[in-house]
Amino acid sequence: MTKLAVIVAAGLGSRLGERTANYPKGFLELDGKPIIEHSIEKLLESGIEKVIIGTGYKHEQYEALASKFPQITCVFNPIYELSGSMRTLYLCKKQITEDFLLLESDLIYEKKAIQMILKSEERNVILASEFTHSGDEVFIEMSVKGKLVNLSKHREELASTNAELMGISKISHSSFRKMCSFAEKEWSNPFKMDYERALVGISETEEFEILKLSDVAWCEIDDESQWNRAFHVIYPIIQSKEALPVFNIPRNILLNPGPATTTNTVKFAQVVADICPREQEFGELMEWISREITQFVASTNDYTTILFGGSGTAAVESIISSVIADEGILIINNGAYGRRMCEMAEVYQLPNLIFESSSDSPIDMDRLEKCIQNNINIISHLAVVHNETTTGLLNPIEELGELCKKYNIQLIVDAMSSFAAIPIDMEKMNISYLAASANKNLQGMAGVSFVISRKMDLEKTNHNRPRNLYLHLYSQYRHFKLTKQMRFTPPVQTLYALKQAILETKWEGIENRYARYTEMWQILIEGITNLGLEYIVEKKNHSKIITAIKEPTDSNYDFERMHEFFYENGITIYPGKLENQKTFRVANIGQVNRGDIERFVILLETYLLTLKGRE
Ligand SMILES: *Cc1c(COP(=O)(O)O)cnc(C)c1O
Repeated sequence: MTKLAVIVAAGLGSRLGERTANYPKGFLELDGKPIIEHSIEKLLESGIEKVIIGTGYKHEQYEALASKFPQITCVFNPIYELSGSMRTLYLCKKQITEDFLLLESDLIYEKKAIQMILKSEERNVILASEFTHSGDEVFIEMSVKGKLVNLSKHREELASTNAELMGISKISHSSFRKMCSFAEKEWSNPFKMDYERALVGISETEEFEILKLSDVAWCEIDDESQWNRAFHVIYPIIQSKEALPVFNIPRNILLNPGPATTTNTVKFAQVVADICPREQEFGELMEWISREITQFVASTNDYTTILFGGSGTAAVESIISSVIADEGILIINNGAYGRRMCEMAEVYQLPNLIFESSSDSPIDMDRLEKCIQNNINIISHLAVVHNETTTGLLNPIEELGELCKKYNIQLIVDAMSSFAAIPIDMEKMNISYLAASANKNLQGMAGVSFVISRKMDLEKTNHNRPRNLYLHLYSQYRHFKLTKQMRFTPPVQTLYALKQAILETKWEGIENRYARYTEMWQILIEGITNLGLEYIVEKKNHSKIITAIKEPTDSNYDFERMHEFFYENGITIYPGKLENQKTFRVANIGQVNRGDIERFVILLETYLLTLKGRE
């Protein structure tokens, strides 16, 4: 068992400007405690007994820290301004007499990272993660056996890469000695080498296992934007993950189109002290949520998010019932959710036109444009579903936005099943109103939905006669703007879960999330195709989020029975909703991964074989 840790902490941290004017980077504070102390506590709690800190810039701070922790020894690198991290590590040579963990001083991370690397039986291990897109990442090239080949800040210098260096490694004593010899031979003037270079330098003879941890929260803090991310996103995530009680909640795999599978941290975020939602503290929570949701798709200068207690339909109905004045609405109907907006227009007796379009192929844009031209005097809005959840057909909202610009009408998008997965830019796409909810790709709990609106357009609805009370968009907007409150009781605990879900979405990143969903979709499509099943929408028009699959033709097939079979195996699938074709649906959203989809495919094969057996 490794008992020693070495932290290289000599750097100037000059990219952090004022923040590191008087303190080295390790003394940036989170919760009133330097990040180096967070790190040392985690090391000691994980069984590390001695910590060597290689110091340089403002070394006296570390020496003061060493007087608080008898486990710490400081080794000063007097030429820290001129040297790279390998020089600092090299100077600790006398003190390093055994295998050790090597860490950088500007890291925050989950304790799990240390536990995992210590648990590994290999003596040389480098921790890696998915890409963080931090802008300063070190990419890892590894061999087919998962060993280190090369490291670089420039992706293009590597033959391939699918992992990023975390800055925590386990190094055997003998490999360390080789790193030192390598460095001695290569010392360029004056000692600019980083330890990464030395690792690569000896990797031909010394094997370093790359241990990729996909679910461990961490970040490096090198500049202001990384500091912001550390402070506002990663540290809160680390805290919530480490505070998770040991409690065995069965993990169900929901392959229905929302509510989706959530993380345990989202589930537990609901367990909070009781609070009256009229308290200022709660108002601030909702304001934060509203701002963050807006920022996923637009700038908060021109756009705002209006929250409602209610399922997704509430947000769509709020828009449809509130924003139309005297003119009418043109609704594109190419599935059950487009149909639902038509029903709303009927219920509220709005002047409406329905543009019927095939549920499995793209909208005929020329025909749509003609329809708009012919009716331009009687329509003010165009409504469309982004990802039609009935089939997975993805409607071209960007092109629709251009069309709306050309004819000066406003675009309403039901983005319930695309928001927080498929990147959307409301400004660029010319979208006036967008509806979504907490419990689909945001991976939160059901009970909150929201409308994101261009403020300029929303303000103009001020004079529309309200057609309902609870869902009246302008009233909800104005009330929130004045009081930071919803007009009626919000789903309190659901909103705490939503905050956590938003943080986790920011942690993963919308593009990474969509990449994860897309990978699962590929596995799903390959799997069902191999089993002889067909799906409705062609790849090029597909959202890759939800798929309507044609039902097997075996006479023994019965959806309810198949559902039951999967349900008993912890997986939930969904019935179809197409009027003219028999389908069932599989959504690949939520905190689900490729292994879950692979399992789904295996179970599907098993199920289909039982049908054959019964014939
Ligand atoms: C899920 C969904 C809705 C909302 O459904 P609720 O059951 O009210 O949450 C609306 N539109 C689309 C496209 C959806 O996928």
